[in-house]
Amino acid sequence: MDFSIVESIKNVIGDSSVSKPICLHEPYLKDTKALDYVSNCIETAWVSSSGEWVEKFESKLCEFTGAEYAIAVNNGTVALRLALHLCGVQPNDEVIMSPISFVATANAISHLGAIPHFVDVESFSLGISPKALSKLLNEVAEKRSDGVFNKYTGRKISAILPVHVFGLPADIFSIKKIADEWDIQIVEDAAEALGSRHKRKNDFIHCGLSGQIGCLSFNGNKVITTGGGGALITNNKKLAIRARHLSSTAKVKHKWDFYHDEIGWNDRMPNINAALGFAQIEKLENRLKTKRELFIKYQKEFEKFNNIELIFETKNSISNYWLVALRFINEKSELNNKCINSLLRESHAKGILLRPLWRLLHTLPMYSDNPRGNLSIAEFEEKRILNLPSSPQLL
Ligand SMILES: *Cc1c(COP(=O)(O)O)cnc(C)c1O
Repeated sequence: MDFSIVESIKNVIGDSSVSKPICLHEPYLKDTKALDYVSNCIETAWVSSSGEWVEKFESKLCEFTGAEYAIAVNNGTVALRLALHLCGVQPNDEVIMSPISFVATANAISHLGAIPHFVDVESFSLGISPKALSKLLNEVAEKRSDGVFNKYTGRKISAILPVHVFGLPADIFSIKKIADEWDIQIVEDAAEALGSRHKRKNDFIHCGLSGQIGCLSFNGNKVITTGGGGALITNNKKLAIRARHLSSTAKVKHKWDFYHDEIGWNDRMPNINAALGFAQIEKLENRLKTKRELFIKYQKEFEKFNNIELIFETKNSISNYWLVALRFINEKSELNNKCINSLLRESHAKGILLRPLWRLLHTLPMYSDNPRGNLSIAEFEEKRILNLPSSPQLL
């Protein structure tokens, strides 16, 4: 083959790498009123926890996702930790997740003293494979009066934590069906999936709203950013009230009395960060449209390579295309990893900072002894996937 992949990337995003390296996803504030809103925050000196912009941002999140409740917090990791705690995950419990995710997903489980139990993915969405999940539970799990237990480790399996990888919605309805059969709760890691939806009969349901709680991240590289930040979204009023309570030191509301009725956290998003988020969520629809156009442009450009495909949404879902993912599909699979490595070297030398898939989580030192099912699909996919620059402002 004579085409150059790096040249093709440049055909799509232009050649600004000459002046400055191009990252995978960068914040963009120029088309927003962020400066006005943040100035307002500074003028009122109301820059810290709670405040008008937090409320406005949360209500905009509800409007955009269709969630009944949104609770803004410090970051996505904290959102996951709090959500799992609210769903009853206790120290020494197991939580089922796939090994393809940013490390924060597994860390949030560990922060509660619980243990990630790894299950395989499906190639298409890179999310938990319903088939593998069902097989794993049938093999290791046992239903008892006080919950579902791992027969081999003796530990309780208290939640399933699907991730919507790169904004591609996982097969959540199939996963939910299995979870319901076993009576295990679902917390969704929708950190990368703001704007991604599943099709349900005649309407769409936003990622994060099929289980008990969904978690979003507004880290600097996500679709919108609050500098650092995250949120829980849910339709469950009780969980929402407890999330708000526990994220604000479990203080019982009173004008002067500092009475706290349990051990809480200080997880709240500061007002000044929420102002930044509000400015971008006003532009989100447009931004998602542009990201989709960028994906389509990449897809057309890459049609000429017969050993490459771009990973696209299933027909029953809408992806926000947070990070466009390229997959090598060489007949000889040994070739895939070679292609990835040489492309990484070439693109980095030319200022386009492509990135391979994260290291599979069960290969990291702190998770190498964790319980797991057969992970052969994840292990196969790891060696042939790479992300392309995906900021909407590149178009
Ligand atoms: C970004 C991310 C997180 C963590 O979010 P932070 O805001 O960085 O703490 C969790 N899970 C996934 C899949 C992510 O991409």
